Formats: sequence, C-alpha cells, structure tokens
Amino acid sequence: MSLNVKDYIRTIVDFPHEGIMFRDVTTLFADARGFRIAVDQLLAPYAGARIDKVVGLEARGFILGGAVAHQLSTGFVPIRKKGKLPGTVISQAYQLEYGEAVVEVHDDALQPGERVLIVDDLLATGGTAAAGISLCERLGAKVVGCAFVIDLPDLGGRKLLEGLGHEVHALTA
Ligand code: IMP
Repeated sequence: MSLNVKDYIRTIVDFPHEGIMFRDVTTLFADARGFRIAVDQLLAPYAGARIDKVVGLEARGFILGGAVAHQLSTGFVPIRKKGKLPGTVISQAYQLEYGEAVVEVHDDALQPGERVLIVDDLLATGGTAAAGISLCERLGAKVVGCAFVIDLPDLGGRKLLEGLGHEVHALTA
C-alpha cells in the first residue's frame, strides 16, 4: 500500500497543553520517503515559477524550507522569534490566543522586488504566516505563495491569508 503525507504525521494528545491535539511532523521528517514526498509536493505548484528566495518560519519551516530551497536552487531566509537573529532586524508583532508574539528577519535578507515562497509545517490561525508575509513585504519582496504541510481549516488561517490576497498551498488537513 502506498502511503501519503498524512500517514506519516502523528497526533499527540494534550501537548503542549491539555485539550490540544498536536500534529507531530517529526515522524514525517524521519522517514526518507515521507520527507521526500512532502518536499516534492510542497514545491510542485511552483515548478517553473520565478522564486528568488524561500522564507522559512521557525522552527519546522527551516527544515522544510531548506530542503525546498535546495530543490528550487534558491537562497533560504529564516524568520525567527524575537531576539534570535544576530544582525539588524525588523520586527513584527502578532496576536496569540493569550498575548502577543514577535517575529524578526534580518533587514538585508530580502531585496525589493525579490519573489519569495513562504514555507512552514502547519497553518492554524494564520497569525504567524501573516506576520511573516508582512516582514517580507516591508522589505519590498513579493510573496508568490505560502506552502504548508498541514492546514487546519477550522482555525481560519487559509481564509485570513487568502483574504490578504495570498495563495495558500497545503498538502493535507
Ligand atoms: P498559527 O500562527 O496559529 O497559524 O500557528 C502556526 C504556527 O504554530 C506554525 O509555526 C506551527 O509550526 C505552529 N503550530 C501550531 N499548532 C501546531 C501543531 O499542532 N503542530 C505543529 N506546529 C504547530
């Protein structure tokens, strides 16, 4: 029987808090075939498109985004949580269920007019991805797509990003 991406992802109940069903992609990454099909399927819609940089969202977006960038022969740019990048950064705050988080990118990581693909493992409310998009756009880059392994549609992320005019590509719900 041929497995698809979803079959390699496990759900951990009550992590990191009671009531949360955490989608754990480490099992996908650990499997040679699973990781390969995830990366191949993530980049498939962009084959032939002009992409200058892949932008990965901390932390699992680094693992996927690095592999996608290698395959597309582009550079890779990390968007990190506040205080982790060593150079001069620009910051973007976004709302969490309780409180606020901040993500950052080096202010020279993208050039005006560069076309970028944003990659992460999972789209939930879309807050993290929207903040990432905002950082890219503030540097003058054009976001040509947002690619995720998992989309949890009930949490509204796809609606949010599409409402902002962005194309969302996800492999599984
Ligand atoms: P959002 O900002 O609500 O869309 O949450 C997405 C971010 O939280 C991504 O960077 C994900 O890596 C992370 N995240 C949220 N829930 C999960 C999960 O169940 N598994 C893995 N990552 C998650």
